Amino acid sequence: MQRTESTGTPLTARGGEMHIDEDLRQILCYMDDGILLVSKSHAYNPHVRGFMARLTHLKRTFQVQLVDLTVIERAYADAQTSSASRPSSSQMQMDAKEIFGQACAVGASDIHFRVSKREKTQLHFRVNGDLEQVAEHSEVFGEQMCTAIYQALADVSDATFEKLSRQDARISAKTKIPAGLDGIRIATSPQADGFVMVLRLLYDSTGESNDLVGLGMNENQKTSYEWMKSQPTGINIIAGPTGSGKSTTLKRVLSSIIEESRGRKHVLTVEDPPEYRIVGAVQTPVTNADTEEERSRKFQQAIKAAMRLDPDVIMIGEVRDAPSGSLAIQAAMTGHQVWTTVHANSAFAIVDRLIDLGLAPNLVTDPTIITGLACQRLIKVLCPKCKAPLADNLRRYTPAQIERVMSVLPVGDVFVRGTGCDHCRNSGNKGRTVVAETVQTDDHLMTLLRAHDRREALEYWKDARGGYTMRDHAVQKIRDGLVDPFQAESIVGFLGDLRG
Ligand SMILES: [Zn+2]
Repeated sequence: MQRTESTGTPLTARGGEMHIDEDLRQILCYMDDGILLVSKSHAYNPHVRGFMARLTHLKRTFQVQLVDLTVIERAYADAQTSSASRPSSSQMQMDAKEIFGQACAVGASDIHFRVSKREKTQLHFRVNGDLEQVAEHSEVFGEQMCTAIYQALADVSDATFEKLSRQDARISAKTKIPAGLDGIRIATSPQADGFVMVLRLLYDSTGESNDLVGLGMNENQKTSYEWMKSQPTGINIIAGPTGSGKSTTLKRVLSSIIEESRGRKHVLTVEDPPEYRIVGAVQTPVTNADTEEERSRKFQQAIKAAMRLDPDVIMIGEVRDAPSGSLAIQAAMTGHQVWTTVHANSAFAIVDRLIDLGLAPNLVTDPTIITGLACQRLIKVLCPKCKAPLADNLRRYTPAQIERVMSVLPVGDVFVRGTGCDHCRNSGNKGRTVVAETVQTDDHLMTLLRAHDRREALEYWKDARGGYTMRDHAVQKIRDGLVDPFQAESIVGFLGDLRG
């Protein structure tokens, strides 16, 4: 039987690069190596001639080979078989699910695919806040994998993965994600010679306890939160950078409000986007905003809409500009309990931050409007199997470091990160714990903060109100042998200068 010399793949196949009618496909086949197969008996067919003119117009080279119709049929059929022997999309989906499962098993918060010509495909997991490289693959693998994730696993209908644009999506179908996850959020972006895809694993925490002590808070902090929960109106604000566990704390606080009220409280959230599912709360997402202005406007609309829905408790994902701050204040002044977060470095810094955003100082220092100020960070917990006494490892540190530790604790009490073992996957750490500070506001404190006298406010809070700072909390955890003093310093600042 006659065969073609071409080893290329047909560009005129169904769904191929060059669209042609089905009738024309019976009598010609244009391959990517420039061979144009034409049926012997159709050499002068006007449609064939028309196609050749089109190739010329497109400046495509071609070399005509007159063949039997069966050869053309075979060329298309062969191409189909060989594409099936490449890793199929369904194989890629299975590989993707395998990667999700591995990430989940080590408690990763994110999966990163960095795909580039130069660096190939780098696969990283973020575990306990740090990136860990877990594999390296070819560039093609990365492209196929990310395409399969975006096009076959994500909820977006009729989606095409475009590696040169920024795209957002989500995977929520339970059959596509490992048990223990509630969903996966996808974000992609182009980079110099490739693209990145970051997957945030959203763990299902609906069955979890609502206890704040389990996150690492102490009884005093838990009591402060109980007090904030008991205030019928007013705003309670949690500060901390991204990844400091604020959403988890908020989720537990709101869940406990719902549980303790046995559903008698209407809890509404306005989030962009929701981080956790909160059973019993009405969670309204802010979606489809392309620009920052539009995002801000939609966020405000969502807060206003939420206030009309007769809530008892409103959670506003974040106060990030003056309008969202004003709406939070308005909500508190019209008789709601409000919870929100803000980017600030300490509980007291929240007040300055709100003033910087453009909110009225007399309102944000009114203790009936702002009832609670809190701040938190996450610190890595030492692996209990391989942590080492500081006293045996003094040589690893500078005299200044040792001095700072000694100024707050006897060296004999302190443990530092060990060399790593199987139990901690050689990281020396096992999980993370919250260090926090919680402030119930009062008149005197707010007067001092209004006067920007933060030092005086801190003295009053510590001496008269038994205040306990994030750094005090960290020192407590160092004393308990739970955290490394130098890891703690990188989070809460130098030890020793406890009034600062
Ligand atoms: Zn270990």
